[in-house]
Amino acid sequence: MQAYRTDITAQTRLVAVLGHPVGHSLSPRMHNAAFRAQGVDMVYLAFAVLPEQLTSAVDGMKALGMRGANVTVPHKEAVVGLLDVVDPLAARIGAVNTIVNEESRLWGYNTDVEGFRSALGSVRQAGARGLRCLVAGAGGAAHAVVAALSADEASEIWIFNRTAQRARALCEAASGWGQAACTPVAEEDLAARIQEADLLVNATTVGQGLAVKESAIPVDTIDSHHLVMDLVYGARPTALVAAAEKSGAIALDGREMLVMQAARSYSLWTGLEPPVDVMRTSLDAREDARER
Ligand code: NAP
Repeated sequence: MQAYRTDITAQTRLVAVLGHPVGHSLSPRMHNAAFRAQGVDMVYLAFAVLPEQLTSAVDGMKALGMRGANVTVPHKEAVVGLLDVVDPLAARIGAVNTIVNEESRLWGYNTDVEGFRSALGSVRQAGARGLRCLVAGAGGAAHAVVAALSADEASEIWIFNRTAQRARALCEAASGWGQAACTPVAEEDLAARIQEADLLVNATTVGQGLAVKESAIPVDTIDSHHLVMDLVYGARPTALVAAAEKSGAIALDGREMLVMQAARSYSLWTGLEPPVDVMRTSLDAREDARER
């Protein structure tokens, strides 16, 4: 049985994740473990917010004096226009995943960029430098990934997305983010680009939850020269990670990125050095982990 928390008082500040769905979010587990470890008087909850409720939910943060929030699927782009101040990096990529309430002014940040860079750095010391990269997806997470790849001097970025127009729009936006050329990929060219690529990144929702057996990147095209990063993660390996490991590729699911983006958000709310190991260990405690 879950133990009741007895340390919540009238001074306790609230932080929450706003998204839909959020029922399987691991963020409450990670942040509450970190708050407890450092004696921070905050509590973290998950709120399922439909798109038509986003404006009132964000306004409600001020009304309730919340300390902040994470913003996840599908709100990262829509929330940008609802904030008082948006950090230049988040504004440039058009996606916010962290809100900080400073005396009733809501500031927006994007910690996914740092989260992705740290996760990639954990398997390749040079990060993205010099890599030819294929990114599947063109939503908020893909924007953060492309910003990180551009900043870290990837040599080439290809974007493949179900809705081709969004891939084109992301490449246009990314043209000013770094030196790497960003090119949209048509479905008929996907296999060839995958063969040329060094790094494959899944930044779509495919593979999440019940779609764990599916992959936006055709798994039969992966071989041992690839480095594969799936932003999705779960209790069982996604089809992409399983196929990559089987083919001898280095593969990483979304957990390390999840921990590192959360660590940065935690610092923004608390001003403290985040207890990264506590956050990482809190994920292992849950067997049916599925999504943020
Ligand atoms: P989003 O803005 O809603 O974008 C969703 C993306 O997935 C779009 O590119 C969409 O393509 C694509 N997609 C959705 N269903 C698809 C399908 N059936 N077939 C092919 N493509 C499909 O979401 P997001 O914020 O970018 O998040 C994407 C994923 O990354 C989520 O699973 C999220 O949990 C994960 N994520 C993980 C971390 C982490 O720390 N590990 C951080 C951020 C995000 P269309 O444009 O065609 O709709």
